[in-house]
Amino acid sequence: MTIRLATLLLAAFVTLAPVQPLSGQASQDERRISDPPELRRNLRRILGDVPMTATDTMHQDIVDRLDFDSYKELVRGLTQFGDREQGTARNAAAIDWIEDQLRGWGYETERVHYMYTPRGSETPEPREEVFATKIGTTSPDEMYIIGAHMDGRGGGEAANDDGSGTALVMEIARVLSAADIESDRSIRFALWNNEETGLNGARAYVEQRADMQGIEDPPGSGRYPEPRWMGMIQHDMMMWDHGNPVTFEQALDADVDVEFQLASGMAAESAQLGLALINANRMHASDYPAVLSNAMSNTDSTPFMDLTPSVSLRENRRLYETGNGANPHWHQTTDLFETFSDRDFMLGFNAGQTTLGALTKLAGIQIGK
Ligand SMILES: [Zn+2]
Repeated sequence: MTIRLATLLLAAFVTLAPVQPLSGQASQDERRISDPPELRRNLRRILGDVPMTATDTMHQDIVDRLDFDSYKELVRGLTQFGDREQGTARNAAAIDWIEDQLRGWGYETERVHYMYTPRGSETPEPREEVFATKIGTTSPDEMYIIGAHMDGRGGGEAANDDGSGTALVMEIARVLSAADIESDRSIRFALWNNEETGLNGARAYVEQRADMQGIEDPPGSGRYPEPRWMGMIQHDMMMWDHGNPVTFEQALDADVDVEFQLASGMAAESAQLGLALINANRMHASDYPAVLSNAMSNTDSTPFMDLTPSVSLRENRRLYETGNGANPHWHQTTDLFETFSDRDFMLGFNAGQTTLGALTKLAGIQIGK
């Protein structure tokens, strides 16, 4: 497909999509000045045509605080450390950098320490990963975890796998750090390490902390080091949906893939969490739709899936699309910041709108109380 044809098709699609002028909404959409206009497909509420209540509109105001350029800059910041492969100095420096950003937004951070035995070795080595928490005001003992893995491989910059998910989680953390935003329930931002070696960082988290859930420590303090898990939302490879066979540009039917695992102990609850994300996408995402399917695999939500509702968000279904060559940059030296166009970044950004939109409802996020 030529560039000209793709542009015409895109223009035709935008032209044919009927704009639904809902009262009070036009001005709100116009305020989204951080989105470069040439990238906008203006699909908000057209796919879903969801009427919005006053609370929905307040949630939209929160989602609108996500900033496209900030998201891109966070991906760029992560790529300065190359592929961040576990066990390297680049990986350790990236963890420090992520922690510095989270602290800069006012969060206290913590690290999970665990041992990992590299392949071909018999000597366990220490590894670390960092998380931060927005503490709930009315239910600090209940928590949603949103995660992405900060390690990568392939010798490039691991920009998409998984700088794109890591930056998404960090951008949501940045927005929720604002002094006028409160959340009823706690929200944890987890940047896993050692995903590429077999989900070792997320597994260590589950092993160390599952039994700590909901325990007040010290008693009477109102502090919960591990609030009870209400759900886990993972983000892993967010930007590239160019069809298969692969085309040069984001496909016209590009979407955010929400996956849960049918063969898990919490399949029904995970499907419900997935639907909450689909509905949030219909209401709050600006340019790309989301779809739900049931074969979540090979990502850090897997160690959680028998214990709490668990889903992953991706650019493609992991087994049927990614696993069949839908992303030629996966684990390659070409997984570089400069490989991806603004339309690619916009797909990742829409996944961020989807997750934050869902969290506003699930966790009870509000502005200025
Ligand atoms: Zn990944």
